[in-house]
Amino acid sequence: MTTTQQNFAPSEQAQRFLSRDEHHLLIDGERVPAASGRTLSTTNPSTGEVLARLAAGDQADVDRAVLAARRAFHGQWGCWTPYERQALLTRIGQVLDERFEELIEIEALDMGAPVSRLRNTKPALLKMVSFFAAQAAGIAGETLMNGIPGEVTTMTLKAPVGVVGGIIPWNGPLNGQFWIIGAVLASGCTAVLKPSEEASLSVLRVAEILHEAGVPAGVINVVTGLGKEAGHALAAHPDVDRIAFTGSTQTGRIIIEASTSNIKKLQLELGGKSADIVCADADLDKAVPGAAMGVFANSGQICFAGTRVLVQRPVVEEFTERLLAFMDTLRVGHSLDDAATLGPVVSQPQLDKVLSYIDVGRDDGAELLCGGRRLEGELGNGYFVQPSVFTGVTNEMRIAREEIFGPVLSILPFDDVDEAIAIANDSEYGLGGAVWSQNLSTALRVVHGVHTGTMWVNCYGYIDPLVGFGGTKMSGYGSKGSAAHMDTYLYTKSVYIEL
Ligand code: NAD
Repeated sequence: MTTTQQNFAPSEQAQRFLSRDEHHLLIDGERVPAASGRTLSTTNPSTGEVLARLAAGDQADVDRAVLAARRAFHGQWGCWTPYERQALLTRIGQVLDERFEELIEIEALDMGAPVSRLRNTKPALLKMVSFFAAQAAGIAGETLMNGIPGEVTTMTLKAPVGVVGGIIPWNGPLNGQFWIIGAVLASGCTAVLKPSEEASLSVLRVAEILHEAGVPAGVINVVTGLGKEAGHALAAHPDVDRIAFTGSTQTGRIIIEASTSNIKKLQLELGGKSADIVCADADLDKAVPGAAMGVFANSGQICFAGTRVLVQRPVVEEFTERLLAFMDTLRVGHSLDDAATLGPVVSQPQLDKVLSYIDVGRDDGAELLCGGRRLEGELGNGYFVQPSVFTGVTNEMRIAREEIFGPVLSILPFDDVDEAIAIANDSEYGLGGAVWSQNLSTALRVVHGVHTGTMWVNCYGYIDPLVGFGGTKMSGYGSKGSAAHMDTYLYTKSVYIEL
């Protein structure tokens, strides 16, 4: 189940970036240290060793960055035509295509996802950037035929909301940041990004690459630092118009409160506890690997992970046997190891959290079928945890209710589809979910019955920017992707013209 730990080194290009003594903030196109001079360190989760030192930004740095973003918003950037912004995004797509290997190595070393997985995300990233390029040239208001002919005419314009604060989690910042950057550049807004203290490097590197590709100074700024310092300063800042937050529901609540200072517009992409429903007539050749990777991909650190696998009783035994056989094909290893399908979890606290949930599952009476311990020795001091499967889980248990954010899959049996829908809905979250069935009527019944922002049928985790992805209930509000996403970076201005 593990690869053997060896010494893996990044390419020369990635190493050149990583070996900087300190990774500075990026404000107004310049790399600058934190005003306080403070730094914080970030570790490589595959080894537990310090990877880099980051500037520990706080209120003073957020003030500087917001000022730069505000100046850029009212400066030359505001005169760029939609076609120029579209061309810029197209150029960025080309540069990302060329620099992707360097970027995924930085991401892999910073947050632990294996390069084999990250490499596969390239088409999705490029698709996202071309989606936003297309959106840039499609921003349009309306001319309304309700004025008095010859006297009054009316129309609506779409205008960029202004300065956007982007607060980003650690579980996939390289691609995740482009939901914000893409919309900011397409709409003509400007941004201050605050990446997670656990994984800031790909956000810093991308910001530098964006400037090389022609993004004007001040349009995209990055302030690294702690959530309760730099993050809070951004969420509460009186000159930030909109917050795009992706992270835990707990932090989302704090952001809502902080953002009331100037009634900021909010987009909140929060946690989940998604149900993956395997019906008795499912094609198990697809459902077993699909449900497994719906949890274990990114070592379970995905907001829409289908951690509650609901299996219809007649196939529970067969599903479980096949799942355990599939588990043997997973390879846990160093994030730069091409043979690894799963990497470590991001940090020591995250490792402790996952292991404590495994204890909770056992104590609550669930049966651990495989996994359950830290992988030490064979993989050195990295934060590796065995992918784990529980059976005999009920929906009342904490492992079925709380977001673990680690490679832990729970099997919950059900008798009929109505019961499966009821179990799926018995959650405070409403992010994702799936149904596996060869009967379209059954599948659509589940799709209609389950209250989540996204449902997959006979697949898991597919996201298309044209369609979008978002949550309901305590998983947040506001969709990533789709025309609705762009709309939240714009406001509508009504214009009445007396002729
Ligand atoms: P987190 O809430 O701890 O941190 C997210 C970001 O918020 C980080 O940049 C952090 O520094 C910042 N932050 C923390 N405290 C803050 C505060 N008081 N004020 C302002 N900012 C603050 O989340 P995480 O552990 O980085 O990420 C994992 C969580 O993100 C999971 O709950 C996961 O489900 C969620 N997530 C959701 C989506 C989605 O699309 N719904 C996608 C990815 C991750």
